[in-house]
Amino acid sequence: MPSPKERVYVALDTPNLDRALAWAAAVGDHVGGLKLGLEFIHANGPAGVERVVALGLPVFLDVKFHDIPKTVAGAVCAACRTGAAIINVHAAGGPAMLEAAARAARDAPGARPKIIAVTVLTSLDDDDLAATGQQGPVGEQVLRLAGLAQECGLDGVVCSAHEIGALRRRFGPDFLLVVPGIRPSWTESGDQKRVMTPAEALAAGADILVVGRAITQADDPAAAARRLAAELEGAP
Ligand code: C5P
Repeated sequence: MPSPKERVYVALDTPNLDRALAWAAAVGDHVGGLKLGLEFIHANGPAGVERVVALGLPVFLDVKFHDIPKTVAGAVCAACRTGAAIINVHAAGGPAMLEAAARAARDAPGARPKIIAVTVLTSLDDDDLAATGQQGPVGEQVLRLAGLAQECGLDGVVCSAHEIGALRRRFGPDFLLVVPGIRPSWTESGDQKRVMTPAEALAAGADILVVGRAITQADDPAAAARRLAAELEGAP
């Protein structure tokens, strides 16, 4: 059972490898993992990802694959070779794609990474779903796609803090809920509209909290990570 601070993954959102490594070194003792997104991955490639994985913390590779099943299976297989602990795909890719992603992770040599799904991007609202021919409202589409991901053998989903309760009730204690949009009580919410504090999100049932700018853009990222860890360890 990870401790509260081990549930925090820091989003290293930069195209600059040296900056990412410096952030990771600063926060590594106070958090449980690191997240690399498209900005970093496309600037630095698998070799850059491997440099971060080599630091020893679990890495969530936020690649959001969405393509035909064979292509996604190959991409998951390649991503597994970096040593990532968590890899994600879009649930909207459909059952065959989700099953192919889960199978590729199972068949990969070495430790099996967890495969999780993105359901509905938090940048989309009911009108956006309608515009793309998807059935809303957003909350129902999130549950529909999360159910599909679970049926297809995925380990969990990325979700907003406000979806944690409904997802936990519907999909049980073993379904991994990875939650961005987290703001420690002492920071600004920035462009994230629906935020929760880390302690609130853990109390609601989150497994992993993704925290980016609240730590990386702090004057002293190590101090911010330490403060967050202390806040969580002291939470009821
Ligand atoms: O800086 P901040 O804490 O907002 O960073 C959040 C991270 O989580 C970013 O890497 C962002 O891409 C990611 N993310 C998000 N909201 C989602 C899904 C992912 O902020 N709905």
